[in-house]
Amino acid sequence: MAEVTVGVDLGGTKIQAVVVSDRIVVGQSRCATPKTDAGDVMAGIVASIRAALDTAGKGPSDLRAIGIGTPGSVDAATGHVSKASNVPGFMDDVPLGPTVSEAFEGTCVTVDNDVRAAVMGEYRNGAGRPYRNLLGVFVGTGVGGGLILEGELRHGLGNAGEIGHMTVRPGGRRCSCHRLGCLEAYAGRMSIEQAARHHVDTGHKTKLFEIMERKGRDRLTSSVIAEALDQGDRLAIDLIDAAIEALGLALANANNLLDLEAIIVGGGLGDRLGEPFVRRVEQEMAKNLRIPERPPAVLQTELGDLSGAVGATVLAGG
Ligand SMILES: [Zn+2]
Repeated sequence: MAEVTVGVDLGGTKIQAVVVSDRIVVGQSRCATPKTDAGDVMAGIVASIRAALDTAGKGPSDLRAIGIGTPGSVDAATGHVSKASNVPGFMDDVPLGPTVSEAFEGTCVTVDNDVRAAVMGEYRNGAGRPYRNLLGVFVGTGVGGGLILEGELRHGLGNAGEIGHMTVRPGGRRCSCHRLGCLEAYAGRMSIEQAARHHVDTGHKTKLFEIMERKGRDRLTSSVIAEALDQGDRLAIDLIDAAIEALGLALANANNLLDLEAIIVGGGLGDRLGEPFVRRVEQEMAKNLRIPERPPAVLQTELGDLSGAVGATVLAGG
């Protein structure tokens, strides 16, 4: 029987698992990330892996390896994770790899950064397949990035590709990293929400929060922002314009430095706002390119919100 590899994308809101056989997704499962503690989150991951195997008609004995992409700081050698502020209990040191391995009778578990996993997914199985030099930018709650240079995932000293913290406006908005004017402070969903709340507090009118409540959400999700844009909400338009301007500037700077073949724009907000958003980012980027007649291809993801989970199977050797 053919063996399969499972990839897991751990996020602050959901756990996505896929089963891959010969680089094809043959099963998947998704559940909400438990809001309690690290033990429950790891139990949720184990349950998601079992559920995904089920949908593929496979069992734990068919497992070749497991890959997990996670936010936070990852010790790839030990599989431990820490400093993941949006996953309950994951600010402290969590033995993620060893715990999941134990639940599957010692199956090899590879743990790496979630964004790097997503970039690998697109590079090997998605929009990045034709290229050897590319940047993946994932615009979601925050803004993450990963670099493939000459066909290799670039780690640097451990933090290569962090385009979200490229300064796009010196002295600008406060970022989650506490510095001022980072790309993420303009394009990350969390920062957009904070800016929207600040504008409401200072008397601006917007439908954003009405739409949020009607959709039964407690955050300005990508779909809430998309609906406000569709309704012509002025504040939403201004905030997304600022996000696009910041992204365009950051991508132009990155490309002027690295001379890339392609830039892939994904993440919750990137995927939800889709092609028109990506084309606007491309146009904004073009304004600041050193060699505008030879721009990098600017592409949407092909795997969408499965990039991270599929990429985790690649990191696990699947
Ligand atoms: Zn920052």
